[in-house]
Amino acid sequence: MIPVKTSAEISVMRDACRMAAQVLEEMAQRVAPGVSTLELDEYAKGIIDKFGAESACFRYKMGRHVFPAYTCISVNEEVIHGIPSKERVIRPSDIVSLDVVLRYNGFVGDNARTVFVGTVPPEVQSLCEVAEKALYAGIAQARSGNRVGDISHAIEQFIRPHHYGIIESFVGHGVGRSMHEDPQIPNIGKAGTGSLLRPGMTLAIEPMVNLGKPDIVIQPDGWTVVTKDRKPSAHYEHTVLVTEDEPEILTRIS
Ligand code: MG
Repeated sequence: MIPVKTSAEISVMRDACRMAAQVLEEMAQRVAPGVSTLELDEYAKGIIDKFGAESACFRYKMGRHVFPAYTCISVNEEVIHGIPSKERVIRPSDIVSLDVVLRYNGFVGDNARTVFVGTVPPEVQSLCEVAEKALYAGIAQARSGNRVGDISHAIEQFIRPHHYGIIESFVGHGVGRSMHEDPQIPNIGKAGTGSLLRPGMTLAIEPMVNLGKPDIVIQPDGWTVVTKDRKPSAHYEHTVLVTEDEPEILTRIS
């Protein structure tokens, strides 16, 4: 069952998402050579605290693994779920994927973005641009009367001509009282299939796109997802509200 939020719940979702977007934006501005991913995470934690919110990542459990940090920071060949550390220091021409998920008044906002550290190789820049535009192609399909497969199909169709690797084993998802609700939203799919979208559904749409092959490996830390060929990967995500009309991007910075 895909939860449909009441207008009161949507109003809290708006607050949570606005905060998640603000934290992501402020983190993005801090990304620079010489800064460790731990410093970025601590900075984010400070803003989350100031908002009276809490990280939805901290102590998140997957099997026997417990996530030890407040945000996910994934550099270059790291796709998602990178654990911030003082050893991982950002260098010129890196790309840094920041993923911020926070809970405020019982509701979760989720968003991510890949940030450039100065000038990056043109093929990496193109990868990121395509991944971000694919996100917006997916969002455009998050309309009442469409189906989940319409979102997946739009993302896939946007990326395919560029021959990038599209991650299949991690997907977008419903988001609300929990970080992960129904439905799952793959980045590959068939138009006209899957659950029907209705006003009041809130969805985290998140293409994860590799410069090389789609294959991934999970590091021994149990979290960090890296590309098998060690080529870079991009990740963009928004939390979106399905309405009677145009989709509303709840994590857009206004
Ligand atoms: Mg997500």
